[in-house]
Amino acid sequence: MTQPRSISILGATGSIGASTLDLIRRDPGKWRVVALTANCQAADLARLAREFSAEVAVVADESCLAELRSALAGSGIDAVGGATALVEAASRPADITVAAIVGCAGLAPTMAAIEQGRSVALANKEALVSAGDVLTAAVARHGTTLLPMDSEHNAIFQCLAGNNYDHVRSITLTASGGPFRDWSAQQLAAATPAQAIKHPNWDMGAKISVDSATMFNKGLELIEAHHLFPVGLEKLKIVVHPQSVVHSMVEYRDGSTLAQLGPSDMRVPIASCLAWPARMDTPCAPLDLAKLGELTFRAPDEQRFPATRLAREAAEAGGAAALVLNAANEIAVAAFLAGQIAFTRIAVMVEETMTRFSPATPTSLDEVIALDAEARVRARALLELA
Ligand code: NAD
Ligand code: MG
Repeated sequence: MTQPRSISILGATGSIGASTLDLIRRDPGKWRVVALTANCQAADLARLAREFSAEVAVVADESCLAELRSALAGSGIDAVGGATALVEAASRPADITVAAIVGCAGLAPTMAAIEQGRSVALANKEALVSAGDVLTAAVARHGTTLLPMDSEHNAIFQCLAGNNYDHVRSITLTASGGPFRDWSAQQLAAATPAQAIKHPNWDMGAKISVDSATMFNKGLELIEAHHLFPVGLEKLKIVVHPQSVVHSMVEYRDGSTLAQLGPSDMRVPIASCLAWPARMDTPCAPLDLAKLGELTFRAPDEQRFPATRLAREAAEAGGAAALVLNAANEIAVAAFLAGQIAFTRIAVMVEETMTRFSPATPTSLDEVIALDAEARVRARALLELA
């Protein structure tokens, strides 16, 4: 019998964490779970740690550690808490680490997983957007296999297999357009958090759902693609595809376009990462194209949704611009979800923060984390002005 593969899941209690664990649950003999982490959610985390016999369970928020400890009493599972413990857990040897914490909070543990020099399946796009050069340099330095888990990037990764970047004419990211795709500027100004987190095709965490509604998700993904697939920014395109069936595509010099299609279920790209370079079964229903009837495509509208323009500008500027964009967006999304600002103010706040704050390029993880904190202070100051 082959040895089980060891796996850690950073952000195990989230949407990506749950989909990953759902796949592992179907074939438990194949896997040995090392670390499972959450921000707080101690009861959920303890339940998962017991079910999967994890080595260690971590809450990033130390104030939740007492609850985690009592929920895991007698289990033999290590219960730890705090930022340092999170990084230490991400450093425990694991054949593959799923980086699925939301936001720049996932950066340091993701980096710790990368430094193991094994495989990292990356869902945590904010980490790559904030620290693209620092993170990709670490991947190269440690010989790490970086597997893109975001559905678009996973699609591109699959379409690029066996091909050479020199042969690529363009890469097109598809975007569902989110729940407000057809809303007028006036309607957008009055959009509520409940409306924004109700995505038509995908079931996701609150932050990425708001990002899909503003199109910042696609903006972050454009920057993510720029780091993952260095073909040049001018070759990266975005097209709105409301059905979310074509997950992205690569066009080659000879005029061939390869696309990856699949159901809008994250278990497909997750399975692709977990099994790579082989394939594994998923419980997802096969695509029924005749039933779908038609697939449609249209250009994005950057008047109503300025996020992709801002992201392209940040990627063109390089340096710390994408970091500032991401930090300001995280603050603005949290403020929107808390009912403090209007939906349309999110992009305005991001643009204002980017205009007012353009620091020098960070060259280390510590510099990235310090600049991220500074950018958040600047963005919060705009909230007070509003
Ligand atoms: P989620 O909100 O459902 O879960 C986030 C996880 O991170 C939880 O386990 C939470 O406890 C943990 N977490 C939150 N704040 C933390 C902090 N400060 N420190 C440590 N841990 C913290 O989010 P999600 O939808 O699963 O998304 C996770 C990441 O994957 C995001 O970067 C998102 O952009 C990306 N992603 C998600 C999807 C999707 O379908 N959900 C698709 C593509 C990419
Ligand atoms: Mg995506």
